[in-house]
Amino acid sequence: MEKCPICERVGIEIESPRGKNFFEIKCRRCSSYKINESVCINLHRYPYIQQQRTNVSSYLFENSGFYITKENIEFFKTIPTPSVGERAEKLLKYLAKKINYGISREIVPLSEDWDLLSASWSKDYSEVIYLLDGYLIDGKSYLEKDGNSYLISPKGWDFLESIKYSKTDSQEVFVAMWFKSSMEEIYEHAIKGAIQETKYKAVRIDKHPHNNQIIDEILAGIRRCKFMIADFTGNRGGVYYEAGFAKGLGKEVIWTVEETSLNKVHFDNKQYNFIQWNRNAMDDFKQKLVARIGATIGLGTYSGK
Ligand SMILES: [Zn+2]
Repeated sequence: MEKCPICERVGIEIESPRGKNFFEIKCRRCSSYKINESVCINLHRYPYIQQQRTNVSSYLFENSGFYITKENIEFFKTIPTPSVGERAEKLLKYLAKKINYGISREIVPLSEDWDLLSASWSKDYSEVIYLLDGYLIDGKSYLEKDGNSYLISPKGWDFLESIKYSKTDSQEVFVAMWFKSSMEEIYEHAIKGAIQETKYKAVRIDKHPHNNQIIDEILAGIRRCKFMIADFTGNRGGVYYEAGFAKGLGKEVIWTVEETSLNKVHFDNKQYNFIQWNRNAMDDFKQKLVARIGATIGLGTYSGK
């Protein structure tokens, strides 16, 4: 019986397509993912995978089809464990999706329902039971129990309705940066390239920054986006303004800057963990961006250009 290299559960399906240097794995805990052959064989070189197993499996479950490579495996080190509230919310959303948002008494967690473990980022089944019975029933009244069945309560549906409007399913990434011809290649190759590779749509509004209509358009674009990439090269006031606006709306901002400009930035760079780039290593910048997006946001679903 084959063992999943990530969660070590047995009974997976593994394929190695001819002429390709990766394995395709179907695991009940981690869902479907691909892993580079040499990364897979040398997984012992990444001991943090062991410590982070629950988070990595759950991340893969949420980002089905993810391809683990030498370049992006480092970010598994940093995947944070979601809070109990966030995990309960993930579980509730999963249950609602499972019954197709219809009213049903069919939710019966069996003793080893792998999807419930994965959806709630749980280490073992006792954690799932706590989230269901302790948190979602006793604590929040979002679920009700009827024998062995769980059903979503009116309060639970109200809650799901409320987060539908507050949390964006947008696939747009707003890019705030200096508009200068020397920055074009950085944008096209590294920034837009990384956004496309992680399956999002890049949005940039660069015409007449002092025209009020354009400012409205910029603010609307930021409101609409899923997250922002803000590049501080050139130290432009507009970039600070846009990044501040995005943070105020609770959006994730990924901070980047050219190495040689970092000391000019008016932020404590340790606080914001800037990705520093070098004009002569565009691919390296792109890969770092892909890894950071994967680690902090997860993959999108956008398939256009
Ligand atoms: Zn697995």
